[in-house]
Amino acid sequence: MSFSKSPVIYWLREDFRIHDNLALTEAAKDNKNLILVYFSNYLDKQPGSAEKVWINNSFLEITKKYHEIYGLNIQCYDGDPIQYLDDLHKNFGVSEIYINEVFDPRTKKKDEKIKKYFTDQIIFKTYNSHLLFDPEEIKNNAGSYFKVYSPFWRNCLSKLIIRKPLRPPKKINVFQDKRLKGIHDLSFNQYLWADKLFKYFTPGENAARLKLKELGNLIKGYSINRDFPNKDSTSKFSMYFARGELSVNEVMFHLIKNKAKINKDDYIKFSSQIGWREFSYNILYNFPNLPQRNFNQKFDNFEWEGNKKNFTLWKSGQTGFPIVDAGMRELYETGYMHNRVRMITASFLVKDLLIDWRLGRKWFEETLIDHDIANNSAGWQWVAGSGTDAAPYFRIFNPSLQSERFDKEGNYIKKWIPELKDLPAKLIHSPWKFHVSDLKKYNIELGKTYPYPIIDHSKARDKALMLYKKLK
Ligand SMILES: Cc1cc2nc3c(=O)[nH]c(=O)nc-3n(C[C@H](O)[C@H](O)[C@H](O)COP(=O)(O)OP(=O)(O)OC[C@H]3O[C@@H](n4cnc5c(N)ncnc54)[C@H](O)[C@@H]3O)c2cc1C
Repeated sequence: MSFSKSPVIYWLREDFRIHDNLALTEAAKDNKNLILVYFSNYLDKQPGSAEKVWINNSFLEITKKYHEIYGLNIQCYDGDPIQYLDDLHKNFGVSEIYINEVFDPRTKKKDEKIKKYFTDQIIFKTYNSHLLFDPEEIKNNAGSYFKVYSPFWRNCLSKLIIRKPLRPPKKINVFQDKRLKGIHDLSFNQYLWADKLFKYFTPGENAARLKLKELGNLIKGYSINRDFPNKDSTSKFSMYFARGELSVNEVMFHLIKNKAKINKDDYIKFSSQIGWREFSYNILYNFPNLPQRNFNQKFDNFEWEGNKKNFTLWKSGQTGFPIVDAGMRELYETGYMHNRVRMITASFLVKDLLIDWRLGRKWFEETLIDHDIANNSAGWQWVAGSGTDAAPYFRIFNPSLQSERFDKEGNYIKKWIPELKDLPAKLIHSPWKFHVSDLKKYNIELGKTYPYPIIDHSKARDKALMLYKKLK
């Protein structure tokens, strides 16, 4: 069958934005007639997880945007894309599909299957709108991928070219046919606890762009303050990067454009964190089992304890270690946790409770609004010591010392553990070290108003070191 002006498809995936969107821009170019499709369960997101709740809300916003700006209604399907794409191909002669690459190995596998199915029928035009570099581009002298961050990022910087961010398409030619029943008014898949999460962060491209405007202010003092959870001194861009509401290319463009106005150390430190994101993706690309398998196979023999009760206490912020509990409660309340506290809580799970990092990774996957398969997996393996360029196994965070150093006055702890709010800084990091009468003055009774510590850190540390040594 031949068609006079066949439409093309732009397939919306994890790219909930119209700014600096390569696949969308290319699909809308040259007056092509466009169909916009979305498969609501194509990406592997757990129903009810924080990221899914975020996605649903972001989807509502972008649906409205496409409708109001371009008169374009999304074709939203729930099922096997092959069947629907085949119908669109057969009914309307679609032979080109524009997509932004999703680097989640599960999605990549599905994409490959679909592309294979439509070989000779549909061309998939695939763009990298999620990272600064195509992972294939960054190789060491031996032609392999980098396993150490510093040379990796140096290599990236030597090749860095930032595009001028693309403006949203001025106009989109909407392909019209009465058989296409688009949607533009949705209120599906809302979860009750979503309201709670959105008290703290707002999903969608509009909110992301407001933050982008503040870039200079957001990272003022970043190099000095970024490690202190009570100082609101990091960008909180992660949820917008993760869901493709903000392009990393555009962030880097603004950073470079405003370089003269930004403190040099803040500039270097912030861009190097963007580098860590690139690094995580590079590792994931080359080692797709990163979410499930130890990068360093030596760790396959590690003897995890896997105490279920302790795992539940960790998840619910009831370990008796205030800094750990504050982090876990912040996570459950807001869907976000400060980076330093992610390291402390993760280290506590893996090296104090001896619980497999994969269980922690999974819990973060369910509860983080910024869940990102590359950063989360790399972050956990880094802490566990099993990853590339990871923290050495003998570096075991002491939660009390971390707390004294990074939350000196205990204000972060007080924010998330209201029962400790009256404790003076001296007592708040390790309340169990003080006499019952000292605590009573502040209405704290361990075991009643706040838990006793569930383990003895120094014994746990010795045990972890012994188990790690066995790996040799
Ligand atoms: C156990 C563990 C799990 C993590 N899980 C995730 C996750 O699921 N999603 C996620 O985006 N990040 C994750 N991180 C990395 C980091 O904690 C977050 O990116 C950061 O806290 C997000 O806050 P921000 O946007 O204010 O960061 P900023 O400090 O403002 O940094 C700017 C951006 O740089 C990137 N970045 C910063 N730190 C890191 C890092 N250590 N590794 C990789 N990229 C980084 C992020 O994209 C971030 O948005 C994890 C870290 C650990 C230790």
